[in-house]
Amino acid sequence: MTFERAVVTGGAGFLGSHVCAELLRRGTRVVCVDDFRTSTPRNVTPLFDDSRFELRVADVATLIDVTGQVDLVLHLACPASPVDYLRMPIDTMRSGAFGTWQALEYASGCGARIVVASTSEVYGDPLEHPQRETYWGNVNPVGPRSVYDEAKRFGEALTAAFHREHGTRAGIVRIFNTYGPRMRQHDGRMIPTFLRQALVGEPLTVHGTGDQTRSLCYVDDLVRGLLAMAESGHPGPINLGNPEEVTVLDVAERVIEVTGSRSGIRLVEPMVDDPRRRCPDITAAQRILSWWPEVSLREGLKEMVQAGRN
Ligand code: NAD
Repeated sequence: MTFERAVVTGGAGFLGSHVCAELLRRGTRVVCVDDFRTSTPRNVTPLFDDSRFELRVADVATLIDVTGQVDLVLHLACPASPVDYLRMPIDTMRSGAFGTWQALEYASGCGARIVVASTSEVYGDPLEHPQRETYWGNVNPVGPRSVYDEAKRFGEALTAAFHREHGTRAGIVRIFNTYGPRMRQHDGRMIPTFLRQALVGEPLTVHGTGDQTRSLCYVDDLVRGLLAMAESGHPGPINLGNPEEVTVLDVAERVIEVTGSRSGIRLVEPMVDDPRRRCPDITAAQRILSWWPEVSLREGLKEMVQAGRN
């Protein structure tokens, strides 16, 4: 199934820029709506070579003003890394809440399919493991991370309400940690931090004991899942992530190995409300979308190192 014309909010960000590129590759015209608050125009510069790509610089929490027929909206605009949302907490809630509201209103108005990017953070520090979509989560509503987690939970509730009340063709994906080229070196997320440290020969800083786990999905796999969700018409929520669970210490060691770095590992203070374990149950994605990740952590890290050198 090919969509004719898609709006990608947050399309200049890490995930969004890969989504825009893949949509164009599949023959869809793309309008990227972004104001670069957590990204740079560089991410989408190569896409201007394709005349089917348009950029609107705008705050999605104010208005999505794209005219003409659109049959798909992918709503990704929201600060997503801890460094960003701890730096701009109120603005994160604004983007997560009002931005999602605008995207849903806009998609409803066009009769377009909309996929809303939620997050594994809606599970908080989970008491159930691995996390299935039926788990309601364990979130601290007033901790520093709550601006992100609760805005996303609100966004999910709003998406479900639009679906119920207006029949909006909306779907929710809960994205687990994803990595790949175009992540910013200083965005505070684990993989770019480790890679930057490994490449300059600094010790890799691991918060806490390092035995907390993460599941890491390569960006190409994630984009494939997101577009499978768009095509499915399913309301979700559906988890998208890599179910292979690795400890943070393992990740640090693998980064050192892949980069050939001589860096060591330094344990530093734990982060506030940092989840101990995080691993998706992707049975629903496998069954409904016929989707599962294919790129191993070692392969994905090699791709990322290679892309950084080009
Ligand atoms: P990112 O920060 O690289 O991209 C977000 C983009 O949205 C940026 O280009 C930013 O400028 C834009 N943006 C933010 N608020 C905006 C606003 N109000 N108006 C216009 N543009 C705005 O983050 P990402 O990693 O690409 O994440 C994209 C989406 O996926 C987010 O919604 C995030 O919550 C979700 N997600 C990502 C991950 C991950 O591992 N990358 C995991 C879970 C969920």
